[in-house]
Amino acid sequence: MALLPLSLAFHGAARTVTGSRHLLRFGERRWLVDCGLYQGRRDEADRINRHFDFAPGDLDAVVVTHAHLDHTGNLPTLVAQGFRGPLPLTPATASLSHVMLEDSAYLMQRDIEHVNKHRRGRPERKPLYTPQDVADTFERFEPHGYEQPWELFDGVTAEYFDAGHILGSAMVRFTIRSDGRTLRVLMGGDLGRPRRAILRDPVVPPGGCDVLVMESTYGDRMHGSDEATEAGLVDVITRTLQRGGRVVVPAFAVGRTQELVAVLHRLTEAGRLPSVPVFVDSPMAREATAVFKRHPECFDDETARQFTRGGPEPFGFDRLRYVASVEESKALNDRSGPCIIISASGMCEGGRVLHHLMRSLGDARNTVLFVGYQGEGTLGRRLRDGAENVNIFGEPVRVRAEIAGLDGFSAHADQSELVEWVQRLDARPRHIFLVHGEPEPMDVLAGVLRERTGAIVHAPERLAEFDLWS
Ligand SMILES: [Zn+2]
Repeated sequence: MALLPLSLAFHGAARTVTGSRHLLRFGERRWLVDCGLYQGRRDEADRINRHFDFAPGDLDAVVVTHAHLDHTGNLPTLVAQGFRGPLPLTPATASLSHVMLEDSAYLMQRDIEHVNKHRRGRPERKPLYTPQDVADTFERFEPHGYEQPWELFDGVTAEYFDAGHILGSAMVRFTIRSDGRTLRVLMGGDLGRPRRAILRDPVVPPGGCDVLVMESTYGDRMHGSDEATEAGLVDVITRTLQRGGRVVVPAFAVGRTQELVAVLHRLTEAGRLPSVPVFVDSPMAREATAVFKRHPECFDDETARQFTRGGPEPFGFDRLRYVASVEESKALNDRSGPCIIISASGMCEGGRVLHHLMRSLGDARNTVLFVGYQGEGTLGRRLRDGAENVNIFGEPVRVRAEIAGLDGFSAHADQSELVEWVQRLDARPRHIFLVHGEPEPMDVLAGVLRERTGAIVHAPERLAEFDLWS
């Protein structure tokens, strides 16, 4: 039999951080790895998300790496446009995606109602997808556990490995055989960080790979040590409480919130933080935490031991309260005395955190603590950049509270962690394709990888396609 053609093309997250979509072709088969939402300005994002440079009905599968919306958020569009194949993913990614895609459809519906109210006679807008499209997407889910290879197609075996990035996150390795030749293609997804709370360290897949596709979000940065991050957290909380203030932490509901709660718990148990009420005010964080509890197969040994011991567990410790109803959330605002409030959205673009900021920013005793990346143009970015006045719900708010930031809680590996991970692969890739990064960090990382690994490193433009046998 002749050698079947094998190629890889980059349809999203090419020299940018959003909208992951990578297309593999092998003989007559074609499949995507991830189909993420492109996030940006409304009109541009809508156009990019609705358009595919291939016919969705021609795809044989979409293999999903993890539940973040920039990797899964456009799956319902694909299904609505005729995709009928299976959607392999890990069991925890399936559970988290149920919560996140339903929420995504709900937010789109709300957003479109708001937009249409102001259309004044122009044709009404339609949401990118509906709850029904999301339900149809769930029908196609096909769970596969870590390190349990399965035959994706004739001649193609797939296997998930824990990426340690968020609950259920995976990298996927395809072993492709044709005409007596074998090629291993490792799609790295988003790579997590070693020694984090709750999740296991990213796995280094035994046997390595010939071709590697890897993220580069922090390709030009180092996060600083875990000790420095924890010391920073203790400092900022301690001085705020001493002033009699509250700490408001805008945090993404999935991942960062659970990790932060686990770290606060450990520091309090160790006597490094005083006992203070902690509130998690985000309905989605509550649902996501429930999903965490259902998937102990993803926990690191320490977290797993805490669960089996039956003692205090990492997500619901004594001082922690989950705020469910809007009334409770409002009551929290009127509460006096020191406390810690963790609330979404992480970049302050919506959600209940806005009410807490409205109430807290004007008082110099309080602190707003940022623990995640703040995108350009967001309220979070303006606050981090030191704005003295901001607008919330159309009202001017003077900023008197302390503004602090800690980058060490990132779920993405930094430069040295990315490079060390590649160096630990026992068979090193000949080709590395960098994706999921802004051009500058991507090019810096490409340089370091060329020097340290000897691989041929590419930073492909969108729609660039490569023959993988060569
Ligand atoms: Zn991610």
